[in-house]
Amino acid sequence: MPMYLVLIGPPGAGKGTQAKVLSEQKNLAHVSSGDLFRDNIKRQTELGKQVEAILKRGDLVPDDVTIAMVRDRLKQPDCAAGAVLDGFPRTPAQAAALNKMLGEFGGKVNLVPYINVSEKSLIERLTGRWTCKSCGTVFHQKFNPPKVQGKCDKCGGELAQRPDDQEETVKNRISKYLSETSPLIEFYQKAGVMAELDGEKKIEDVTKQLLAAVAKIR
Ligand code: ADP
Ligand code: ADP
Ligand code: ZN
Repeated sequence: MPMYLVLIGPPGAGKGTQAKVLSEQKNLAHVSSGDLFRDNIKRQTELGKQVEAILKRGDLVPDDVTIAMVRDRLKQPDCAAGAVLDGFPRTPAQAAALNKMLGEFGGKVNLVPYINVSEKSLIERLTGRWTCKSCGTVFHQKFNPPKVQGKCDKCGGELAQRPDDQEETVKNRISKYLSETSPLIEFYQKAGVMAELDGEKKIEDVTKQLLAAVAKIR
C-alpha cells in the first residue's frame, strides 16, 4: 500500500526543509504544490501564466486548479510508493479531494506531522530564506547559511530570494493560513493521524521529532 505523509504548518514553518529529508529517508517522492506552481511560472505554461499574479500577492490559488495539478503529479510513476506532501492540502476542500484521490490510488493519509511555529519566528525565517535556483535546496542567512555566500552547497547553483518573501506578502500569507488552512489541524486531529512537532527547535531537532513520529506509523 502506498504511504502518504502530509506536512502541515504555517508558511516558513520548515515544511520544505523537513520534507526533503523525510522523502530521502523514506524513499518517497517530495510533492510540493508551491514548487509545482513556481516551475510552471518559470516555464510560462498556461497554468504558470494563470497563477503568477496570485503567488506574487501571497493569495491562494483556486481549489480546482490546485487539486487538478496535484492529482496529475501523484499519478506519476515516481509516486507509486507514495509521497511526502508539502503545502497541499491548504483548504478543507483540498483535504476532502485528497482523501478521495488517495482512495482511488489504494492509499490514505497515513500521518500528518504539524510543525507548530510562532508568528514572530515565521517572519524572521521567511525574510531570511534563500533558495537554490537550480535544485531548490533551501537555506537561511542566519539559521542554515550556505558554506559559500550566494552559492548552493549541493550543486553550486545561484541562491535567490523568493519574490513573495517580503514582509508585506508574508503577512498576507500568514493571514490566509490562519483563515483557510488552520482548520485542517482539527480535521486531521479528529481523523487520528496528527502528530504535533515543536517547530521552534533547531532544524535537526525537528527532524528527530518527525522521524520518531513516522516510526510509530503502523
Ligand atoms: P510556503 O513556503 O509559504 O509554505 P509554498 O511554496 O508552499 O509556500 O507556496 C507558495 C504559494 O503558492 C502560496 O502562497 C500560494 O499562492 C500557492 N500555493 C501553494 N500551495 C497551494 C495550495 N495547496 N493551494 C493554494 N495555493 C497554493
Ligand atoms: P516552509 O516550506 O514551511 O515555508 P522552509 O522549509 O522553506 O519552510 O523554511 C523557511 C526558512 O526557515 C528557510 O530559510 C529555512 O532554512 C529556515 N528554517 C527551517 N526550519 C528551521 C528551524 N527549525 N529553525 C530555524 N530556521 C529554520
Ligand atoms: Zn542547488
